Amino acid sequence: MGNTWVTNIQHFLNESGELGDLPKPALNLVNHIISIIEEATLGNENEPRETSIQCRRRPGRKKCTGKIITYINERNPTQLIWFCPDCDDNGAITGWESTIYNNAGYRESN
Ligand SMILES: [Zn+2]
Repeated sequence: MGNTWVTNIQHFLNESGELGDLPKPALNLVNHIISIIEEATLGNENEPRETSIQCRRRPGRKKCTGKIITYINERNPTQLIWFCPDCDDNGAITGWESTIYNNAGYRESN
């Protein structure tokens, strides 16, 4: 496995649930995470979902051409798992259920 990023999106949002003021590198990561939440919640099946999101890694300084795949962690449905099938960049997103970026395809876990 490559680098694993565990990100609680709530840490990057202000009281209104919007993106707070962030330094550029953090902003780039958070925008990536938000895109994943938006596309991951478009459907309602628990099948892994291929998104249109370009992998952001550059292994060997060549841009990875992989497209991010996401799915809900069955053992822990609060986690949105994502990975790049080409370079194995991967991570888990938490805190996404109540955000404005949740397209409501997935119900909040109950
Ligand atoms: Zn990749």
